Amino acid sequence: MSTVLLSGKKLARLIQQKAHDEARDLETDGLRPMLAVVVATDDGSTHWYVRSIERAAESAGISCRIVDLGHDATEQVLASVLKDLGADPSVNGIILQTPLPPGVRTDELVGHISPEKDIDGANPLSLGRLAVGQPSFAPATARAVIEILDHFDIPVAGRNVVVIGRSAVVGKPLSLLLLERDAAITVCHSRSGPLEKYTKTADIVVVAAGRTGLLNGGHVSSDAVVIDVGTNVLPDGSLVGDVDEASVRGVAAALTPVPGGVGSVTTSLLLLHTTEAAREQSRALVRGTSG
Ligand code: NAP
Repeated sequence: MSTVLLSGKKLARLIQQKAHDEARDLETDGLRPMLAVVVATDDGSTHWYVRSIERAAESAGISCRIVDLGHDATEQVLASVLKDLGADPSVNGIILQTPLPPGVRTDELVGHISPEKDIDGANPLSLGRLAVGQPSFAPATARAVIEILDHFDIPVAGRNVVVIGRSAVVGKPLSLLLLERDAAITVCHSRSGPLEKYTKTADIVVVAAGRTGLLNGGHVSSDAVVIDVGTNVLPDGSLVGDVDEASVRGVAAALTPVPGGVGSVTTSLLLLHTTEAAREQSRALVRGTSG
């Protein structure tokens, strides 16, 4: 059985092009979209990732403001910066990049991201709105999984989907998006017991646990589609997912690679969300001035 590799690269380019087109239209209306990324760490891989967002934004015609507060920024400083960015009309989208300094309460801080600019769905209000079907930005990674399934014409409605991981940034919002698409969802976590009990009969398995090699060929059926959200850096610096790719290849019907799968689509979606936020904010401004 040969496993089809579902590369995210072409889809990422298509989404980036869409963001570029949107940014150009906005600029015609006198608005250049702006994404602000708040960073408070010395971690090299985080800075590398933030620079990659900056480059992608600039090539899509979106300005990117990196607010680097250093590794010893306090929670008060971070909260105040987030509030200022929320009030700044030149900023359309805000990302609070993790990791944050020790002692800083991420759960508290994300509540200071303006919901209208919360383009990575980090504020609990965004997750709440998603849960009740109100307009909001889903975390880009969760939406990336849906976009990949759509792009490869993989149906979701009425299918048995297992999501491994229940974090507020990936597993939970993804489960809500899949539920919205009429999938039958099972969410697994560190205490749900042996994975194969759930995954063996799944049509689609999404792994987002951050555990190298968590899902192997023995866990999945021959017609399963496996989406690997995990990103784990090995001691030699290479990036791998949560799937033991060598053993799943040849068993499952399809698999997303790491790198080159979910991650590449996620970055493009951050840009598209920024243009969507900018468009909505400019409409709200027009409604405000005309009303
Ligand atoms: P997280 O907050 O650490 O959550 C991990 C989840 O996995 C938790 O719900 C945990 O269960 C579950 N889990 C851990 N070990 C497990 C096991 N042995 N069996 C079953 N479930 C297990 O991580 P996250 O922020 O959601 O990120 C998950 C992964 O996705 C990470 O590798 C991260 O780097 C990656 N990621 C990738 C992108 C991208 O763009 N590609 C974006 C975001 C995150 P409990 O709740 O019981 O602890």
